[in-house]
Amino acid sequence: MTEIAPRPLAELTTLRVGGTPERMIEARTRDELVDALQDAWAAGEPWMVVGGGSNLLVGDEPVEGVVILVRTTGIEVLPGVQGGRRRLRVEAGHDWDALVAYTVEQGLAGVEAMSGIPGTAGAAPIQNVGAYGQEIVETLVEVELLDEATGGIETVPAADLELGFRTSVLKQHYGHGARRSGVILSLTLELEEVGHGVFPVRGTQLRQALGMDAGAAATLADIRSTVLATRARKGMVLDDADPDTYSAGSFFQNAVVSAAFARTLPAECPRWPMAPVIDQTRIIPLAAYDGVVAPPVSVQPDVKVSAAWLIEHAGLGKGFHLPRSRAGLSTKHALALTNRGHATAGEVAELARYIQQRVQSEFGLILQPEPVLVGVEL
Ligand SMILES: Cc1cc2nc3c(=O)[nH]c(=O)nc-3n(C[C@H](O)[C@H](O)[C@H](O)COP(=O)(O)OP(=O)(O)OC[C@H]3O[C@@H](n4cnc5c(N)ncnc54)[C@H](O)[C@@H]3O)c2cc1C
Repeated sequence: MTEIAPRPLAELTTLRVGGTPERMIEARTRDELVDALQDAWAAGEPWMVVGGGSNLLVGDEPVEGVVILVRTTGIEVLPGVQGGRRRLRVEAGHDWDALVAYTVEQGLAGVEAMSGIPGTAGAAPIQNVGAYGQEIVETLVEVELLDEATGGIETVPAADLELGFRTSVLKQHYGHGARRSGVILSLTLELEEVGHGVFPVRGTQLRQALGMDAGAAATLADIRSTVLATRARKGMVLDDADPDTYSAGSFFQNAVVSAAFARTLPAECPRWPMAPVIDQTRIIPLAAYDGVVAPPVSVQPDVKVSAAWLIEHAGLGKGFHLPRSRAGLSTKHALALTNRGHATAGEVAELARYIQQRVQSEFGLILQPEPVLVGVEL
């Protein structure tokens, strides 16, 4: 385990803000990662793991305790899966996009639409990363978790992580701790062997992004390159030369509201129904069965509404910034709060609060931040 001179988190996060921790460890092997965490837990020391730092807003003050940088790498093809599918086990610190590139080279489908998302593989399940209609929940089989409650390593099936829209039991949402505390050491994905030829492109969102009609086909490599180009146009691929990418991606989550509330929003506001809740499988105990099976109960699904639309229609267009502030909205994407050069976390938080207030007074809902906030109040 390598203890290194603590570096400011401004150098290790994509928003380029954040103070310096008391101690910093670079864990390059799984054993180093486990030892560092178990030592911190035994000593009762405050701790935090950082992967690519692309979903973090860290405050300007010194960070208490130890920051452990997850730098483990490796992809292992697991034996024993048949029927045109292949399982990969990936170490937590492996670069996510390098993993996606590998799957595309190997002709494996399932994560190609998530090309270009920054960060590490181990952080991907934390908020169930997703893009263009594809989410990791569709391919994740299990994770190896070092559990803080027991101090031991456990194999946790994906279903037990309760992956939802940018959430899981491991994610710290603003104002709430994680429901389960632990660190992912590796994850296992199950992907479909489709090879290098064309195959039907699934999902309306992805087809729209690729400019394709229903029933259209493409190769994995085509999907990856088109997704990367589309993301780059929106400043959603990290680029040192482009301050529009000095961000944590989308800063606010698309808001999930009731169908009734959604009807109060202007009709032009883009919205997507969450999956309908239909009680399809019911078990009627034989003793209670009277020969009648009631039709399934269908509830009006909640609706996801576009946070970018709400921000822009609250009068805060792309490129907006407060007077004298070095934080501003990306000039390409109204959802990305960016560091225009030497901004502090305080300036980013001030902009975030201003946006929340404007959207709330215009539309009556409070946008929730997507990144994990450490030492920052909104
Ligand atoms: C330009 C840009 C575009 C983006 N686009 C998308 C997108 O399209 N879709 C999307 O979903 N996200 C997107 N994001 C957000 C971000 O890239 C993802 O959430 C990513 O998975 C974060 O990985 P990371 O390694 O950088 O995590 P970090 O920022 O290092 O950490 C995030 C949180 O996860 C915790 N964590 C990290 N590693 C582990 C681990 N091994 N075990 C347990 N906890 C851990 C950290 O403690 C922290 O709480 C984007 C970000 C940027 C900057």
